[in-house]
Amino acid sequence: MQQEDPNITLITPTAPVETARHGGRAKCLQRLVRLDLPVPETVALSFDAVHRIAAGNMPDMEKLLVPFGETPLLCVRPSSEDPDWGGPGAVLNIGMNDASYVDLADRLGQEAAATLYLRFVQSYAVHVARLDPDAFDEITLTGQEGLSEALRLYEEEAEEAFPQEPAVQLTAVLRSMARAWEGTTARLLRQAKGAPADAGLGLVVQRMALGLGQGECGSGVIQLVDVHTGLEQITGRYLSQSQGRDALEGEASLYLESDPRGPSLENTVPQAFADLIAHTRLMREKLREEMQAEFTLENGKIWLLDGVRVPRTARAAVRIAVRLAEDGIIPREEALMRVEPRALNELLHRQVDPEAEREVLARGIAASPGAAFGAIVFSAAEAQASAARGEPCVLVRRETSPEDIRGMHAAAAVLTERGGMTSHAAVIGRGLGLPCVVGASDMRFQIHKKVLSAPDGRVFHKGDMITIDGTDGEVLAGTPAMLEAATDDAFQTLMGWADDVRDIKVRANADTPDDAKTARNFNVDGIGLCRTEHMFFEADRLVVMREMIFADASEDRRAALERLLPMQRTDFTRLFRIMQGKPVCIRLLDPPLHEFLPHDRAGHRELAEALDLPLSDVTRRVEALGEYNPMLGMRGVRLGVTVPEIYDMQARAIFEATIEASKDGAPVVPEIMIPLVSAKREVEIVKTRIDAVAAAVHTETGQEIDYRLGVMVETPRAALRAGEIAPHCSFLSFGTNDLTQMTYGLSRDDAGRFMSDYVQQGVYAEDPFHTLDSDGVGELLEIGAQRGRDAQPDLVLSICGEHGGSPESIDFCRNAGFDYVSCSPFRVPVARLAAAQLAVSDKIG
Ligand code: PEP
Ligand code: MG
Repeated sequence: MQQEDPNITLITPTAPVETARHGGRAKCLQRLVRLDLPVPETVALSFDAVHRIAAGNMPDMEKLLVPFGETPLLCVRPSSEDPDWGGPGAVLNIGMNDASYVDLADRLGQEAAATLYLRFVQSYAVHVARLDPDAFDEITLTGQEGLSEALRLYEEEAEEAFPQEPAVQLTAVLRSMARAWEGTTARLLRQAKGAPADAGLGLVVQRMALGLGQGECGSGVIQLVDVHTGLEQITGRYLSQSQGRDALEGEASLYLESDPRGPSLENTVPQAFADLIAHTRLMREKLREEMQAEFTLENGKIWLLDGVRVPRTARAAVRIAVRLAEDGIIPREEALMRVEPRALNELLHRQVDPEAEREVLARGIAASPGAAFGAIVFSAAEAQASAARGEPCVLVRRETSPEDIRGMHAAAAVLTERGGMTSHAAVIGRGLGLPCVVGASDMRFQIHKKVLSAPDGRVFHKGDMITIDGTDGEVLAGTPAMLEAATDDAFQTLMGWADDVRDIKVRANADTPDDAKTARNFNVDGIGLCRTEHMFFEADRLVVMREMIFADASEDRRAALERLLPMQRTDFTRLFRIMQGKPVCIRLLDPPLHEFLPHDRAGHRELAEALDLPLSDVTRRVEALGEYNPMLGMRGVRLGVTVPEIYDMQARAIFEATIEASKDGAPVVPEIMIPLVSAKREVEIVKTRIDAVAAAVHTETGQEIDYRLGVMVETPRAALRAGEIAPHCSFLSFGTNDLTQMTYGLSRDDAGRFMSDYVQQGVYAEDPFHTLDSDGVGELLEIGAQRGRDAQPDLVLSICGEHGGSPESIDFCRNAGFDYVSCSPFRVPVARLAAAQLAVSDKIG
């Protein structure tokens, strides 16, 4: 038969069966046949054949039926290229008719024969003849009575007798399954799972191994691992006198392995159990995957009907891949390729239990993964009070500002009305590993009234419990069940293998000792960005900082900075010690000074008291420092050029901390980075001063000072002029948050308002603050890298914007010859695995 029609293939060890033409299920069955496992005769129909069937061109049915003998009983199952794309449900017992009923009644008993026939009529009526499902589901009679009722109902509804010819039945089943695949709903569903628009469907026609009849008959499902943990565990059920997946639902199902909770297949039919285990183990070893097998027992003999890859959580995926490699079944590099890097987020953070019910109140941008619940609070102070009471809270703000940092530290999760992927709440949330949803603009935030309203009108007050799912970007009512984070031994092993193969370094953006410790625990290669401004927002420092900002005379400013110096020195010493000699890149102060000042009248009054100044003076000064467009105003290196004492103080703190930390630990060579550069001269001016500070510290202490100076490329001009900037520094680090903002002329903080419209209408393929725009911003990165390296071949190149941790930007950076990427601490494992996968893919070619 198969010689005549290449689209209809009896599955034998040597038949030309291919996943790309017949689908994954057909290919898997052939692998089982090759292993000499007991698989009932199966014929595979190719994608082409099924496509033609949908169009009404049936294959030669008589020939198709030849391998199954005179009175066949068959089942048909879908076989798409990727099992995740789904397909129509299987149809069992095709071929049942009045004659085979009589024949089976003789061999298996009347009850079993009637059950088979009844099931087939019901399934055929609903799925093939498309008759009213309710009418057939409502048949409560069983055995012969139920069968008579079903046949009568069929005749009444279909206005013809139930078809008796196996070829006619099979034709109708094949046509209905083929057409179901071509329907719009099915197509949209599979496209959502990544299937191409023209994805094909194969079908497999298989002889039924009945599972009903005399002797021990039944069916079941088995796998050798737990789907949630990936730990070794014989899992599944078996049900006597059953078919398909009945065992998974039947209350009378047996455990497979001997079990104190009830009877088991192992105790009831030990030989069949032993065969089943041996078969499944062989499948694992030879198919190089944890497989779930559907099996049937026919009078004590095992048949394997189907094998599919065990579905699994991310946690289980890691353990399964590691165990397969440790058992020598797959190489380590393949294990690395089998875990989706982003799926690691599931292990690194608490999640809403996928089984739990979700009452979604609203959606926003999934800004920082993980989930947490807590009582709503509307201010940082309330969050701190809540934490002091030991009660988890969710900090709800229109947007967060640096003044909210302490509240964010205290909160279990953060929800904001405004902002996008690089807004303050998002960046800090990711740094802290704090679940965060931003830009939830469908909700109404009445912060002063302490009311949060959902789009459906539900109103929440301070103290009401909500859940923030920062992985999916959802705000949920109440407190659904959670799954804890699990960075277990399998995770550590996989990460170790990733480090062995990756060829680009991964550093962390870490501002505090806690961030640095988190990053170290994730075995980071260093700190790529320490944003020093966060160090000034501690309550005791803020007052001194404000004094410094308000100082009229240079001596007053110096006096305030002298008080800040030891604080900064302690910060840096701690970071250096935690990082134990791994590189630490410290960015000099970046934000405009007015960000450190209070913005409301009460704050102004407090400040006036603290500084012993008239309120009007304070208000006037705060206003004077205000800017229309602070993101493009007096910030970054512009501050360093115009108020140089601040950078002087920071440089001194860095050098003194270097000496301090090197005394009792690994030697430190600090990296100092200048933000928001747009001109070479800015670098020259700052470098001259930092060199002078280094010389002064050297003179005072007698210690040699070695340091590296770098420039943050965050303005398009810095990228374009990298050739003249590079000779003045030893590294360039691309700050893609600001660079994206300035390349697009798109505010990081306001873009969230229209970003979803822009993406929906295809103006941007993705949110460029989320996914690196490799065309536009990417071109600037390439130009900057190229011109910088041409001018200075030893130049170290890196990226430190929020894009740094995503697999796509790591790919881009590797190709552009970058030395490292730097990302939030909790994204470090994702980045390590993604980098490893890229190296392995390159090796494989
Ligand atoms: C950047 O602009 O990419 C960056 C890392 O700096 P920040 O987010 O602090 O502006
Ligand atoms: Mg920046």
